[in-house]
Amino acid sequence: MTIRRGALIGCGFFARNHMNGWAEIEGAEIVAVCDRDFAKAERMQADFGVAHAYADAEEMLRDEKLDFVDVVTTSPFHRPLVELAARHGVAAICQKPFADSQADAEAMVSACEKAGVPLAVHENFRWQQPFIEIADRIAKGRIGRPTFARISFRHGFDYYKNQPYLAEVERLSLMDIGLHLYDLARHLLGEVETLSCVTQRVNPIVRGEDAFTSLLSHAGGAVSVVECSAFAKYEPDPFPQTTAVVEGTEGTLELTRGYRLFEHHPGSVTETNVDVAVPNWGEKPWQVVQQSVVAFERHFIDVLNGKTEAQPSGAHNLGTMALALASYESAATGSTIRMKDWR
Ligand code: NAD
Repeated sequence: MTIRRGALIGCGFFARNHMNGWAEIEGAEIVAVCDRDFAKAERMQADFGVAHAYADAEEMLRDEKLDFVDVVTTSPFHRPLVELAARHGVAAICQKPFADSQADAEAMVSACEKAGVPLAVHENFRWQQPFIEIADRIAKGRIGRPTFARISFRHGFDYYKNQPYLAEVERLSLMDIGLHLYDLARHLLGEVETLSCVTQRVNPIVRGEDAFTSLLSHAGGAVSVVECSAFAKYEPDPFPQTTAVVEGTEGTLELTRGYRLFEHHPGSVTETNVDVAVPNWGEKPWQVVQQSVVAFERHFIDVLNGKTEAQPSGAHNLGTMALALASYESAATGSTIRMKDWR
């Protein structure tokens, strides 16, 4: 079996899930880790038995023979790091938000295309088992042609504790969770033609918007409502569950809290438990997130081995980025944006 040699850049909060994921995948080995805060790189190196640790990604790319880099820094560093990988002819995974601007996202796509290396965006919601199941049932025609969806992520979990930078950013929930939900909407219902969005700042401690509600129309006639709040009061708090309804001409798929998936048809309903086992390195309530990281990473190794195309690729994610950025414009102007005319 070919073992793909990878390096992880950015040894912060979420990177531990990445490292635990890579440890599960037989066809990959993380041979180096890098963080400009070298103590973090060293800690990761020790915790996961990695051969080398670096403070400087440039030096790492010069010294190591790599098949891919896994970029897990926050977004301002994505473009220089992905371009660095491309210059060395190394494939890249980039965490979301892919970039802070469409121009940066396009530059990364172009750099990797010119270098002839795959570029994937770590867009893991579509790799969560409940959404793998929903997409599969739609593809099999179980609900006919999708006509409507509601994709909802509402909770009151204090995620500023793990990700304190989120409380400071000017663009919060659309760029953090909105991208995931828009990727799901495109994945399940197809390309978006028009978008309108209302944003809210509900929690007084945050600088940016922490809630939004969007209405999308999709090519082919379907409509979706995509909604998110990080300051909603529920007991028990449902974080990090996404709930969804997808109605089609022949039936409806309904994913409720507790990872219960209902498939409705006139006169019948079936229920499936689509929760996943907690990995031995993981913990509740993160299990579905952790499973999705492993599923995405396994998929990326298939991409490197030429078995499939990246889902999503950097090029595909440009459309998702456009939706998030256009949402700010829609919210600021109170307008509906026709995506083909946007920018
Ligand atoms: P973090 O701040 O905890 O970690 C980022 C690390 O990157 C820091 O240790 C920092 O020192 C390092 N870094 C920054 N620039 C660097 C550079 N040029 N070279 C080397 N190291 C560098 O952030 P986090 O919470 O782990 O989030 C990282 C990314 O993951 C963010 O983009 C976030 O949106 C994303 N994220 C995704 C999910 C998901 O479900 N897909 C969940 C959480 C976070």
